[in-house]
Amino acid sequence: MNPPGMTASPEFRAAGTDISERRRSGVSKGPLMDIVPAADILGMQWGADGTLRIGAYTSIAAIAADSAIAAAYPGIAASAQGLATPQIRHLATLGGNLAQRSRCWYFRNPHIACLKKGGTDCPARGGNHLYHVAFDLGPCIAPHPSTMAAALLAYDATVITYTRSGLSIPQVLGDGSNGAADNALQPGEMIRGIELPKALQGERAFYKRAISRSYAEWPLVEVCARAVVKDGTFQFIRLAAGGIAPVPLRLKTVEAALQGKAANALNIEVAAKFASSGARPLPMTGYKLDLLEGVVRDLLEKLAV
Ligand SMILES: Cc1cc2nc3c(=O)[nH]c(=O)nc-3n(C[C@H](O)[C@H](O)[C@H](O)COP(=O)(O)OP(=O)(O)OC[C@H]3O[C@@H](n4cnc5c(N)ncnc54)[C@H](O)[C@@H]3O)c2cc1C
Repeated sequence: MNPPGMTASPEFRAAGTDISERRRSGVSKGPLMDIVPAADILGMQWGADGTLRIGAYTSIAAIAADSAIAAAYPGIAASAQGLATPQIRHLATLGGNLAQRSRCWYFRNPHIACLKKGGTDCPARGGNHLYHVAFDLGPCIAPHPSTMAAALLAYDATVITYTRSGLSIPQVLGDGSNGAADNALQPGEMIRGIELPKALQGERAFYKRAISRSYAEWPLVEVCARAVVKDGTFQFIRLAAGGIAPVPLRLKTVEAALQGKAANALNIEVAAKFASSGARPLPMTGYKLDLLEGVVRDLLEKLAV
């Protein structure tokens, strides 16, 4: 519901590291609503059952530096440590990270129409889409920009808003088929926090990104991988990838190839090749599949040790 006197739903501003640039360029117009760091959206609360709730206004730096998160959910900590720059992480909030808008250069250009700005087609398809998707799942071909969304997907996290709870990451971000939006939140729906289930006994996790420069850039490909390896066997395996599709993707074919299998070099080599199962690369994005396969192989080798 809109506040009295407002006809359009306001766009929220948390730390403003994304929205400020869109306001300056004129891509974001209309009413703004500042989120204040109230107690219920700030910080972390551990449940007696080992679950964790993180408030939406919690900074990425706080998540990255928290030793209890690093112990229980190392893939969440590593993803937070790996994104953007120290300055951005210090300000950027978890809610803003999940709800940040596309980095597509056509979307960010105020003079070019696109599906996300009420246009009728995606100019990246016939234009320069070097950094765009390798899994073409919908009319807009920009990859989802949120590193934390991929990590939270790997951990089966749920999202709480002020009107709904228990939302999975696919419920919050959609399946990529709606080219007009970066997420499936309702107009004016504000993220309140996320909830993580209890960590599994003996699980380990790693995060890795392939990036076009070593610093201060969104990744070309990123993967958060978790596993429980016991008696030389993958007893649990989970991988979620970002940078490759309009939404973060679970790599279910890789998971299925390893679940219950020996954690050895041959099985890892075979499974890593499944990382591109279901891919539909664009003329300029086939290289992302090689990167994805390499990142997955590296992570599986680390998990198997
Ligand atoms: C150089 C650089 C490199 C970067 N690299 C990465 C990267 O590798 N990975 C990555 O994930 N990000 C990256 N970022 C983006 C950065 O992480 C985001 O800008 C930041 O997380 C957004 O958080 P914020 O609090 O500043 O959001 P804001 O700018 O305040 O808001 C962003 C969007 O989210 C909405 N929003 C904010 N809070 C909520 C809420 N609680 N509920 C609903 N909607 C909300 C706002 O309306 C707005 O549309 C990078 C940024 C820069 C500048």
